[in-house]
This record gives sequence, C-alpha cells and structure tokens, in this order.
Amino acid sequence: MKTLERAHWGRHVLALGDRPGPIVHLQGQPLVNFASNDYLGLAGDERLLEAAVEAARRYGTGATGSRLLSGQREIHRELEEALAKLKQTEAALVFSSGYLANLGTIAALVGPRDLILADQYNHSSLKNGARLSGARVISYPHGDTTSLQTSLEQHRNQYRRCLILTDGVFSMDGDLCPLPVILDLAARFQVMVLVDDAHATGVLGARGAGSLEFWGCSGQEVVQVGTLSKALGSLGGFVAGSRLLIEFLRHRAATWIYSTGLSPADAGAALAGVQLLGAEPQRRERLWSLRGELQQLLAAMPPAWELTPLPSQSPILCWGVASPERALAWGKALRERGILAAVVRPPTVPTSRLRLSLMANHTRTHLEHLTEALRVSPEEGQSVLS
Ligand SMILES: *Cc1c(COP(=O)(O)O)cnc(C)c1O
Repeated sequence: MKTLERAHWGRHVLALGDRPGPIVHLQGQPLVNFASNDYLGLAGDERLLEAAVEAARRYGTGATGSRLLSGQREIHRELEEALAKLKQTEAALVFSSGYLANLGTIAALVGPRDLILADQYNHSSLKNGARLSGARVISYPHGDTTSLQTSLEQHRNQYRRCLILTDGVFSMDGDLCPLPVILDLAARFQVMVLVDDAHATGVLGARGAGSLEFWGCSGQEVVQVGTLSKALGSLGGFVAGSRLLIEFLRHRAATWIYSTGLSPADAGAALAGVQLLGAEPQRRERLWSLRGELQQLLAAMPPAWELTPLPSQSPILCWGVASPERALAWGKALRERGILAAVVRPPTVPTSRLRLSLMANHTRTHLEHLTEALRVSPEEGQSVLS
C-alpha cells in the first residue's frame, strides 16, 4: 500500500451526504458536481424516488431468488419491455449490474475455440468478460479500424466464432467508437458485435436510444449492453437484442441465471427513468446545449497550459496531465475552488487525467465557475490566496 501511495496510485473514497444533484457537499463544503454519471439528473428526481418506494411497497425490498426460481416480478417484465422499445430491439434482459451483464454475455457468446477483438480502451467489464470467456483475445489500438481489419484478415478464419467488443462512448475519454465501420467489417467477416452503451443510453441519439440510433444503424444485429445506473438514475444492467439472443442468454449467462434478480426498487426507479427519457426529451437537449456552452466558454477562456484536452464527442470531457501527482494536485485545487471532478490515473487509464461530466441540471453559472477554476494552476492559485 505504501508503494501505491508513493507512486500517487493510492485510492480513497469520498462520502457525499446529499441526494444526487449538481451541488453536493463534502465535509460541509458545497461543490459543483462534475463527477457524476447521472447525465440527465434523474437519480435525485422525485418521480424515480416515488417509483422505487412504490415498487418496494408492492414487491418487497429483495427479489428473494434468481429470476428462474422465485426472483421474477411483473416489474422486471415491464422494465425489459420498456428497454427493448427504447433500443428498438425484439427483447431485453435485465442483470443486477452493467458489469455483470458484460461478464455473463461475453462468456455465454464465445469460448475457447473463438476469437475476441477488443478496443484497447474498453471498460474493465469488457476486458474481464473476455478473459472469463476463455476465447483468444486480440486488442486493437483505440478506434483503429484499419488495425481491426488487419487482425480479421490474419486471424478470423482460424476460429469458430468471433466477437468484436467496444464501448459506444469511451468512459474515460468521452469519444465514440466508429460504429458504422465496425459493423461493415463485422458483416464482411461474419463477426458478432457487442457495444457497451453504458454512457450512451439516454445521452446519444434523437430519442436517447444510444450508439445505434446516433449512427443511424438502428435495427442492425448488435448485442447492445447498457446500464441502469448512469443516465437512467438507478442500478442494474441490461442487454438488448434479438429474441433469439435474449432466449440464449436466459439459458447460458451465468451472471443472470445464478444471481438474485434485480431488486424491485431498482427496477421501479429504472422503469420510471426509461419513461422520463421518452416524456422529457428536453433533458437530453439541455445536456447537449450545456456541452456547447461549455466549449464556447473554454474557447474564450482556455484552461491552464498544462491541461491537454482529450478528443471528446460526448458530455464527458477530459484533460490529460503529465503525471498522477499532477492529476491529484489538480483534483485537490479544484475541490478547494468548489469543483468536484474525477481524477483518473493508471491502471484505470494509460495516462493520468481529469474527467468531468455534465448533467442536464447544471446551470450556466456552474459552467462559468468551472471555466474559471481550470484557468489557474494549483500553485498559482496558492500564491493568489496567500
Ligand atoms: C459503468 C460502466 C459499466 C458498468 O456498469 P454498472 O451498472 O455500474 O456495473 C460497464 N461499462 C462501462 C463502459 C461503464 O462505464
């Protein structure tokens, strides 16, 4: 542990005392929250809370068993239908978390005779799912479809099944996977594609359906994984796809078969979240207009020279810094200036960075506050204060 701390790789938790929202308190200090995945501001919404309470009153606090035994409730079916409708797929299946959805689905779809091609920047759950499956895993440089094609040409025909794994929105960068090119390659080489839309569901696309809708690929055969815990404001994960895929997962995905069904309260809140996604498109519009406003503010008042913006096409914005130590210094300085941002370091990512994410209920004042806080380096800020 000492070695980890010395390398500035130590990890610590922060306990927030509030309902989720754009302002949170840390030991009494108010902070503008740019560290949340609650993109649409639904996790603190009264209607989701009511839906969770209502579901708990009706069905109890626990599902009491796996879905195949005693854990199935009407609310699971309603939620799965709503998710399939959102994703424009035949069916959907809800897991206890997005992480478990990825583990179970990948290990069910491929095995030791198969090949996985994976973007180097994929989320931990995709990486561990690939490992768990026992398939041969070849990763390609981030977003590099030329390299992906070369790997397919070289290796595809030596394996039975092949699966491409990619984040839809890359969680620690905020850029998008080049989905149309990937789907073309998949069709040419007879490969399945799994897109992890954890940060795209509710955020990308005209209806918030995610990557396929954004890229105009709706209706194509893709295994779409999502989470209920980000824009949808609850907890849990899901897979959306063909009826055949979902039926197959019900028979083969160990993390679904052998894990207790999602709690009624989580299912209830998530269902309300999906319904609000459809009923209040202005939340998503607001999120994207805030992103535009922030870009304008940053162009007019650029951040300190040592912060290097990473390419982003989503409400996740990242700035690279030279070392884990500098990232921690910035995280601390921002907190002193009233901003909560995520400090992301190796081994989560190859290079240290600040990660900020927008929420639909941020205000222009919050964005101005952030822009101001990013302008002055941690040390300069000190000398101004002293
Ligand atoms: C958050 C996240 C997950 C895990 O989802 P949980 O529901 O929190 O387990 C999976 N993939 C990506 C890309 C994520 O960002």
